Amino acid sequence: MYDPKSSKAEEFISHDEILASIEFAEQNKKNSNLIEQILEKAKMYKGLPHREALTLLLCEDNDLNKRLYSIARDIKDRFYGHRIVMFAPLYLSNYCINGCVYCPYHLKNKHISRRKLTQDEIRAEVIALQDMGHKRLALETGEHPLMNPIEYVLESIKTIYSIKHKNGAIRRVNVNIAATTVENYRKLKDAGIGTYILFQETYHKERYEQLHPTGPKSDYAYHTEAMDRAMDAGIDDVGCGVLFGLTDYRYDFTGILMHAEHLEAAKGVGPHTISVPRIRNADDIEASAFENGITDDQFEKIVAVLRIAVPYTGLIISTRESKAARERVLKVGVTQISGGSRTSVGGYVEPEPEDETSAQFDVVDTRTLDQVIHWLLDLGYIPSFCTACYREGRTGDRFMSLVKSGQIANCCQPNALMTLQEYLEDYASPETKEAGIRRISEELTRVPNEKIQKLASERLVSIANGERDFRF
Ligand code: SF4
Ligand code: SF4
Repeated sequence: MYDPKSSKAEEFISHDEILASIEFAEQNKKNSNLIEQILEKAKMYKGLPHREALTLLLCEDNDLNKRLYSIARDIKDRFYGHRIVMFAPLYLSNYCINGCVYCPYHLKNKHISRRKLTQDEIRAEVIALQDMGHKRLALETGEHPLMNPIEYVLESIKTIYSIKHKNGAIRRVNVNIAATTVENYRKLKDAGIGTYILFQETYHKERYEQLHPTGPKSDYAYHTEAMDRAMDAGIDDVGCGVLFGLTDYRYDFTGILMHAEHLEAAKGVGPHTISVPRIRNADDIEASAFENGITDDQFEKIVAVLRIAVPYTGLIISTRESKAARERVLKVGVTQISGGSRTSVGGYVEPEPEDETSAQFDVVDTRTLDQVIHWLLDLGYIPSFCTACYREGRTGDRFMSLVKSGQIANCCQPNALMTLQEYLEDYASPETKEAGIRRISEELTRVPNEKIQKLASERLVSIANGERDFRF
């Protein structure tokens, strides 16, 4: 039975409710009266329930779809302005005891080289990342109780936060590790993590079990209920995601919105972020072997409808996507992207030769961070290295109420400009610096509160004079 408040995976992600939603949306995808009503509701900027969102996703009317995209762009502009938050993944270890059939780190892959970074190697990777200009990391490890126990992850987080190299600092460490116990989540919380990220991969239980034949991850309920345990342990910010291409996209799109509705209903706050990766080739993984791949058009529409359905949730896209695909989804909803990423263990210090890759997936957007920043500036965005909320204790419902009141713009906009200025001073090429400084002066007037605008302007001067780490 479907119950968004239930603590049981199969009740808050109800298979029957998803199938009924798909049937409803298919029957109504040409029902322009109903779709117009849903679009009117979307314009209230308060989000949409999963069934209505899916109906929009499947809508086949060109004019209504144009309106849908326009609402998605409005929401993005209203809540996020031109800001795009930057991050980089850091792979600590690719030892893994799971059998995920879409990932080259699965246990049975015997020819991939396995590696786990020592604390000294982590230091070297982090310095390389700091020298690029990164301030926000997402830690990634395989699941291996002996090679990557929680103590290793905790020690690594401590190491990362302790590294101060020139003007560099990692100010927010998000963590993407396997589903674990409340006790371990408490340890991660105490270590000062930002977001706990865990991708569901697919919400379809039967398919999930086929794709995860062995290892602890094969337990669908334990995996699906992980965010509840993380929140019970006091982690306010959780990041959900599905791997599009594993199952019928209509199913997983509905599933991820039901998961968000569940967290809101049961824990009082929805996910901080949603990631939308698509399956990619990697060592012994051939993406075309999966039959549920989605086109660029479908992908763009998924992002746009997510933007409408969960206006307050950050949407993340990685370097799995090409420059062209990223450009499309940035316009309609994505708020956070990675840049200059390496998806192998130790890859920032020693990039691997292309023919010997042991990366978790093939990076499609291989540009440097500076190139990505310059590209974003040319497109009219403000690349932001802001990490202020978590450091000011603005997490979970405190964060959400600030976002819902619209006051967050008085933090995000000046913080984005100040952290961009830091980047331009310390790491940018001369061309990027020139483009960035132009952008900052154009965007300063978009700080809504005049006093904050004035203060931000003074702080920008201080940053140019060598001071660092201001925040609102
Ligand atoms: Fe291991 Fe994660 Fe890869 Fe699965 S997806 S094999 S858990 S690293
Ligand atoms: Fe994110 Fe908070 Fe910074 Fe805004 S102020 S970009 S919400 S960390």
